[in-house]
Amino acid sequence: MNKKAFNPFEMAQAQFDKVADVINLDAATRDLLRNPIREYSFAIPVRMDDGTMKVFRGFRVQHNDARGPAKGGIRFHPHETLDTVRALATWMTWKCSVVDIPLGGGKGGVICDPHNLSQHEQQAICRGWIRQMAKNVGPVNDVPAPDVMTNPQHMLWMLDEFEVIHGGRYPGFITGKPVGMGGSLGRTEATGFGLIFTVREALREMGLKLADCTASVQGFGNVSQYAVRLFRQLGGKVTCVSCWDQEDQVSYTFRKTSGLDPDELMGITDPFGGIDKAKARKLGYEVLPGDAWIEQEVEVLLPAAIENQITGENVNKIHGKVKLIGEGANGPTTPEADKVIAERGIFVIPDFLANAGGVTCSYFEQVQGNMNYYWERDEVLGKLDVKMTAAFSAVSDLARKQKLYMRDAAYVIAVNRVAKACKDRGWV
Ligand code: NAD
Repeated sequence: MNKKAFNPFEMAQAQFDKVADVINLDAATRDLLRNPIREYSFAIPVRMDDGTMKVFRGFRVQHNDARGPAKGGIRFHPHETLDTVRALATWMTWKCSVVDIPLGGGKGGVICDPHNLSQHEQQAICRGWIRQMAKNVGPVNDVPAPDVMTNPQHMLWMLDEFEVIHGGRYPGFITGKPVGMGGSLGRTEATGFGLIFTVREALREMGLKLADCTASVQGFGNVSQYAVRLFRQLGGKVTCVSCWDQEDQVSYTFRKTSGLDPDELMGITDPFGGIDKAKARKLGYEVLPGDAWIEQEVEVLLPAAIENQITGENVNKIHGKVKLIGEGANGPTTPEADKVIAERGIFVIPDFLANAGGVTCSYFEQVQGNMNYYWERDEVLGKLDVKMTAAFSAVSDLARKQKLYMRDAAYVIAVNRVAKACKDRGWV
């Protein structure tokens, strides 16, 4: 059977169309917002280590910059497509808008697989990407960042090429730089901590004490590790995390019902968030099937691994005790599962609000770079708390007042703000 391939941009447009109907958006604004404002597709010729030339394809999509410079990562991926980049750029517009930072949405990519490229070849791709885009990106129009398979070193090479071309120092051009070379303290913790700031607020509104709650978490990478840490610091208990096992090509859940210790687990976790099973067993963890995290008798579920994890097939395994789902990952819940969750009255903190701590901290990095003045870690995380708490309250107030599902309320706020900026500027 010829099943139609999943197209993320069609999904992003369908989500937008639904909100546009709810808020009665006029035709011109709809046309403007359901498509990117600018798109670039270009060739990056690279001299490979063996002396041959190879041409890579690069992209940058600026979905909307009415509220500020476009903001979004650059991905290196062998299956990168223009439509994936378009979808991710669109979601960045809504994410920056819902947390009310003065940035728009962008995303970029290169079709390549860094596993098969030397450091020198990767540097050449970074510099080539900038040479093609140098006139269309920059601190006042479009600020890139790391994303899938790109890291602070790639950002520094890109910054250097940009500065060579423009003949000056422009630290606010790109975020995710190494600390000490323009990076912000607190960025590593930002997404996981941001998630827990919103969870804390949600529990407070529901009249529950975080210190009396237990959480089960999917994933044990960057987002999960810091979310687990802060949840525990605030007095809560975490009994499960899960991860993908590269060797067995399946996922596993690691459970300690008395409460797990993230520092102990991080000591037996590889840089990709994979936990050593044998060592975990020795430390007293039960090693359970990958989807066991979802069926735990806990108050809080935190999907913080990958997309498409709470589906029509497993949503009914969610325990009756669960009160709250905080989406650390992007797109962990399918629309089918969403319906069941809404019917069961489980409170959801939607992904583009719950995991916006990362981009909010990137914005702080950009601000610090533009000022050439860097804040202490506590100042960064304090400002992050203020932003995330305010964004959460705005969405939850609207959801309560208009009896909207949290995801819909977040979309209504985000799209309304961008639509207003476009109208106020006289674009539509
Ligand atoms: P990561 O690569 O550091 O960690 C991912 C974790 O998920 C790893 O522990 C991995 O083993 C696990 N995993 C992968 N597939 C799995 C599966 N099928 N079942 C169970 N576990 C699985 O990634 P991250 O940076 O922590 O990002 C996690 C999610 O959060 C992604 O959806 C990402 O897009 C989103 N996100 C991350 C940030 C950020 O700042 N890191 C910001 C916004 C959104």
